[in-house]
Amino acid sequence: MRIGVPRETTAGERRVALTPESVARLVKTGVDIVVERGLGVEANLPDEMYEKAGATFGDPWTADVVVKVQKPTADEARKMAKGAILISLLPTASSADLLSQLAGAGVSALSLERVPRITRAQSMDILSSQATIAGYKAVLIGAAEMGKILPMLTTAAGNIPPAKAFVLGAGVAGLMAISTARRLGAVVSGFDIRAAAREQVLSLGATFVGPEPSADAEAAGGYARAQTEEEQRKTMDAMATHLKDQDLVVTTAQIPGRAAPRLITAAMVASMKPGAVIVDLAAETGGNCELTTAGKTTVHNGVSVIGAVNLPSSVPLHASLMFSKNVLTLLQHFIKDGSMTLNLDDEITGPMCVVHNGATRT
Ligand code: NAD
Repeated sequence: MRIGVPRETTAGERRVALTPESVARLVKTGVDIVVERGLGVEANLPDEMYEKAGATFGDPWTADVVVKVQKPTADEARKMAKGAILISLLPTASSADLLSQLAGAGVSALSLERVPRITRAQSMDILSSQATIAGYKAVLIGAAEMGKILPMLTTAAGNIPPAKAFVLGAGVAGLMAISTARRLGAVVSGFDIRAAAREQVLSLGATFVGPEPSADAEAAGGYARAQTEEEQRKTMDAMATHLKDQDLVVTTAQIPGRAAPRLITAAMVASMKPGAVIVDLAAETGGNCELTTAGKTTVHNGVSVIGAVNLPSSVPLHASLMFSKNVLTLLQHFIKDGSMTLNLDDEITGPMCVVHNGATRT
C-alpha cells in the first residue's frame, strides 16, 4: 500500500500531515510513503530527513491513501484514483461541492475534524492538539501587541504591577492560554459555561469569574451546549463588568456546528482601557467579539481586536509534530495486514467517514 503526502497549497498553511519520524514508523510496517519534494520546508523538515526516513519522492496524488492537512482543491482532488482514500481536515458544512466531487470519482474521505471525543481516540484528536498550540500562541500574540509587559516588576526605575489577563472559554485552547499567561506573570481569570471547566480554571491558579456554570451545560463529548437567551444575558452582564479592567483577553468560546457565541459587544470594547488587546480564537466561526474580523486587527477606542486565523500554522514544527502523531495513530488504527479498509461500523472510522461508495455521509 502507498500513502502519498502532497505539499500544502492553501495560503498560509505551513504544517505537514506526516513528519519524517512518523514516516519512518510507517515504512517499518511495510507501507510505502511517497512525498512531494519540498513537503516540509516551511516546517523546518527538509527533504533529506524524509529520504532518511525511507520516503520516496514522486506524485503523492496517485497513492492509495492521500494524507494532508487542509482539504484539497477541486483540481488536486481530481488527480486521485477511484477507490483511493483521502484523510485531511474537511469541514463538511463548507465543502459540499468537494464532497460530491469525491463521491462522483469513487474516492472515500475521512474528516479529521470528526475524530470522536472518546478516551480511546484522544491520541488521534487533531482538534485538541492544534487547539493547544493556538491557545499558547494567542497569548504570545496578545503580549507582543500590548504596550505593557505581563509580569510584576520591582526595580530601581519604579514598580510595575502585573498585567490582567482574562480567558473566555476554558476548553483545550483556553486552558493552555491560562497557563501560558500565568507563566508570563499575568494575574489571570477565566470563564466557561461548563462546570468541569470551572474546576480546571481554578486548578491552574486562575480565578473564575462570571455566573456559576449549570450542571447540564456540557453536551456529548465534553462540548458545550448553546446557552439559553437568559443564560447568555447573565454571561454578558458579567463580562461587561469584568472586561473594563483587563489588559489582555483571549476568547475561545465555541459550540460545535454553530456560529461562535457573541459575548463581547462593541460597547464592552469601548469600555476597556486603551492599549488593551483582545485575541479572538473563534474568529473563523464568526468571533466571540462583535468587532472581530477574521485575519485582521481592528482598533476601537485604542483597544486592538485581533481576529486570529490558523495560529497552529504559525508554529509549524511543533504543530506538525503533534498533527502527525495524531495521524500516525489513526493510520495504525485503520491499517490491517498492510492495507487500509474502511469498516464503517467501527466507532472511530464511522463518524470520520464523510464520503464512501459514491455517496456522501454527512
Ligand atoms: P470547543 O473548542 O468546542 O469550545 C471551547 C470552549 O468554549 C469550551 O470549553 C466550551 O465550554 C466554551 N464555551 C462555549 N460556549 C461558551 C459561552 N457562551 N461562554 C463561555 N464559554 C463557552 O471545545 P474544546 O476546547 O475542543 O473541548 C471542550 C472540552 O471537551 C475539553 O475541555 C474536554 O473536557 C473535552 N474533550 C474531550 C476529548 C476526549 O474525550 N477525547 C477530547 C477533546 C476535548
